[in-house]
Amino acid sequence: MASDPIRILQDLIRCPSVTPAEGGALVYLESVLTEAGFTVDRPVFTEAGTPDVENLFATIGSGAPHFVFAGHTDVVPPGDEAHWQHGPFSGEIADGMLYGRGAVDMKGGIAAFASAALDFLSEGGLKQGTISLLITGDEEGPSVNGTVKLLDWAAKKGHRFDAAIVGEPTNPQALGDAIKVGRRGSLSGTIIVQGRQGHVAYPHLAVNPIPQLTTLIRRLTAEALDAGSERFDASNLEFVGLSVDNKAWNVIPAEAKARFNIRFNDQWTRDTLEAWLISRLEEAARGAIEFELDLEPGGSESFLTHSEMLIGTLSDAIEQSTGRRPELSTSGGTSDARFIKDYCPVVEFGLVGQTMHQIDERVAVEDLVALTAIYRCFLDRYFA
Ligand SMILES: [Zn+2]
Repeated sequence: MASDPIRILQDLIRCPSVTPAEGGALVYLESVLTEAGFTVDRPVFTEAGTPDVENLFATIGSGAPHFVFAGHTDVVPPGDEAHWQHGPFSGEIADGMLYGRGAVDMKGGIAAFASAALDFLSEGGLKQGTISLLITGDEEGPSVNGTVKLLDWAAKKGHRFDAAIVGEPTNPQALGDAIKVGRRGSLSGTIIVQGRQGHVAYPHLAVNPIPQLTTLIRRLTAEALDAGSERFDASNLEFVGLSVDNKAWNVIPAEAKARFNIRFNDQWTRDTLEAWLISRLEEAARGAIEFELDLEPGGSESFLTHSEMLIGTLSDAIEQSTGRRPELSTSGGTSDARFIKDYCPVVEFGLVGQTMHQIDERVAVEDLVALTAIYRCFLDRYFA
C-alpha cells in the first residue's frame, strides 16, 4: 500500500541525505505525493558561504483552513558505520525496531504524517480546506536555506497557513508524553575586559583584566534571571568559554574575554536581556573596570503558542489513540518551529527522542504505526 508508514520510512532511510545532501529523499517524497494528487514544488535556495539546499512544498485542496505538516529529510552523519548493529541507511527491521539514521529525527515523523495524509485523502476526508507538507533539507545544518526561506517563498505564492505541526521527536519516554508548545529563546555574547599589559614584578604599572573579568562574571551569576513562568523553566545564563591570549609567566595580559549563552523564557526579549546585562555589568564595574559587551547577531526570541484549536485538537487525538493526555512542554533546544511561528500557530509532536543522533538510531514499528494513527485522528478532527 502506498500509504504504509513502515514502507515510506524504510524508503526514506535508504536515501543517504546527510545535510546538505538531498540523497534522493525529496525525489522520493515528490513521487509519492504527486501520485496522491499533491502539487509539488522543489525550490532550491542559495546563499553565499553556505551550501545550496533542496526543499519541497506539496499542497492539495484549496482555501481555508490551511493546515501544514512540517519537517526535514536531512539527517546528521552516522558516525562510524561499523558501530551500527544494522546499517545507518539500511532501514532494517529487527525485534520490532526499525533501524537507521533519521528513524526518529525525523524521517519517522515524515513517514507518519505523509502516510496519515494519504490515507485521509484517499478516504475523501478533505471536503474543504488545504493540506500542505513543508519539508526542508537544511535543519541539521546552518538552517539558512531551509524552512525560513521556504516559508517566505510559500507566502509570496499566496499561501496563508492556519496551523502547523512539526513532526520532530518530542516524547522523552513514550508516545503521548509531550507536545512542544513553545521554545525558550537563545542569546550569545562575549564580555571583553581591557586591562593594561605590564611586568608581573611591577603590577602597579599594569591593570590585570583577569580578576576584573571574574568580578563581572560573579555579578552575572550571583542571582537567577527569573524563577520560570507558567509554561517555561527558569531562564539560564551559562558561561561557555574563557580566554586570555598570554603564554608568558611574567606578563600581566592586556585583555580577557568570557563567552556566554542565555536560554530565556517568555519573561524576556533580546532587548530586555541586553539592558539587564549592561546594568549588572556597570554595577559590578563601578566605573573602574573597562569592559565591552559584544552580543552575537542571530539568536532567537522565545515563543509560546496559544491556539486552543491546535493544541486541544492534537491533545484530543493523542488521548484518543494512546489513552494519555500529553504534557505541554517548552523544554529542549531550538527547531524550525521558531520560523513557522511567524506565519501561524505551531506545535511540535513526533516520536520518542531517545536514540536521536545516536549510533543505532531506531524506532519501534509499533510507535511509528501509532504516531500515524494520531496524525490521522488529528486530521479527522481538524477538518471535521
Ligand atoms: Zn530534527
